[in-house]
Amino acid sequence: MHKEKGVIGLKVDSLHEGTNEREFTCDAADFNDHKLIDAGFRGKVQIEVAAEKSETEITVSIRTSAEAELSCDICLAPLSKTLIGDYRIFYVYKDHAGSEFEDDDEYRLLERSAETIDITEDVRETLLLSIPMKVTCTDNPECRTFPGEKKEQTRDDGDRSTWQKSLEKLKNKYR
Ligand SMILES: [Zn+2]
Repeated sequence: MHKEKGVIGLKVDSLHEGTNEREFTCDAADFNDHKLIDAGFRGKVQIEVAAEKSETEITVSIRTSAEAELSCDICLAPLSKTLIGDYRIFYVYKDHAGSEFEDDDEYRLLERSAETIDITEDVRETLLLSIPMKVTCTDNPECRTFPGEKKEQTRDDGDRSTWQKSLEKLKNKYR
């Protein structure tokens, strides 16, 4: 993220020993990432952060909650879902990290002089991780009528839509 106002950061000075809870709100569009928009994120993103500070490290737990416009994998019906994402990062103070320590996605080095921990990228990552692999209707009887194998679905696609159309007609008739 390049915009200053969108930066989500934890001020290290403001953290006391123990658990520190912080809340942030931003817009999905603030991240300037088309992947988020493509995934269906549109509006506000709620971010809850718990930073556990000790003498040696700061553990940052991120929870995101955001509404996404999705569509059912089976019947393509539009669905709106609140997606929850969780992510945890361990910031280890440099002077406490052994020489064996290797930085990676979850374990990172922190300078004693660090003023802010920028978690903007991690929040973006958490949102991407919260996108479900599978999306299906929860209360659409027409969708669950064909819960069969994927192969069968493709083969029956033509039949299904004809069948659905006649069902629609029937419904309208008896309304
Ligand atoms: Zn469906």
